[in-house]
Amino acid sequence: MKPRLLVLSLGGTITMVPTAKGGIAPSLGAEELVASVPALADAALIEARSPLRLPSPSLTPEDLVAVAGELRAAFAAGFDGAVVIQGTDTIEESAFILDLLVDGDQPVVVTGAMRGADAPGADGPANLLSAVRVAASPAARGLGTLAVLNYDIHAARFVQKSHTALPSAFLSPLAGPLGTMIEGRPQFYVRLAPNPCLPVAAGPLPPVALLKCPMGNDTRMLEALGGLGYAGVVIEGMGAGHVHADAAPVVGELARSMPVVLASRAMTGPVFTHTYGYPGAEIDLLGRGVLAAGYLSGLKARLLLSLALRAGADRRAIEEAFAVYA
Ligand code: ASP
Repeated sequence: MKPRLLVLSLGGTITMVPTAKGGIAPSLGAEELVASVPALADAALIEARSPLRLPSPSLTPEDLVAVAGELRAAFAAGFDGAVVIQGTDTIEESAFILDLLVDGDQPVVVTGAMRGADAPGADGPANLLSAVRVAASPAARGLGTLAVLNYDIHAARFVQKSHTALPSAFLSPLAGPLGTMIEGRPQFYVRLAPNPCLPVAAGPLPPVALLKCPMGNDTRMLEALGGLGYAGVVIEGMGAGHVHADAAPVVGELARSMPVVLASRAMTGPVFTHTYGYPGAEIDLLGRGVLAAGYLSGLKARLLLSLALRAGADRRAIEEAFAVYA
């Protein structure tokens, strides 16, 4: 008996063809994408749905919360796994939202393409086939949400878009991919314990700002943040989690009014907690009430904080949510 998979398309380059106005834009739906790869029928019984046809910069966290609900309902109804097709620009965020909100052992695989559907050497069909084969594989069960592109199988918590053009754009720079497609089958080299999922909650997502710290002592954006209606802030500090000395008291002031989480603007690696003792370094900031993002990127930390706040997390629960990634 073949596994039953739900394939949901949200849009992205994988669905894009040239338009009369110039450039490529989302057009194809999941049904057409699935029909264009006959080998999919050997891997699974597929139900294709196209809830959205958007370029992924126009997807919102709320859209992905809705997708998580659709996947949970599908798994409760007996589906064995799911593939979510979307634009690559925000795959690392979408995959992490699904990882946090969809529990159970059924594989969830996010995929997309770097080349448009009609481009020579389009990577969409191969990526979709790989994604379906991973989602259909018993070996992928219990690994949480995965991102599969260019034959690489990445964990949602690590994956990052790392190039604007190449089909090999997706990397997991901290830990490497979990596995690779080999001769049409997923080969896993590493297994991860699944993330604890957040409680399912209702209501709007509390807005969380993300601010990258550039060199210099300009604190105007930090000072403005407290009055903009945000429920929390993630600061991408320099290196292991550092800001200019003049910014430290401003960050501390902000942390008195809302949760402030410290991530790093460096491409990879955890923020430190007890090494640097100068003003603006991590010991100073944590002492002022800031929370550490662990190894999560600023993009992923922002989503975790927003989803935790939506689930009603108090400071202790937020700390616990981030401690998973320490
Ligand atoms: N801009 C596109 C999007 O994210 C890029 C892609 O799909 O690869 O929708």
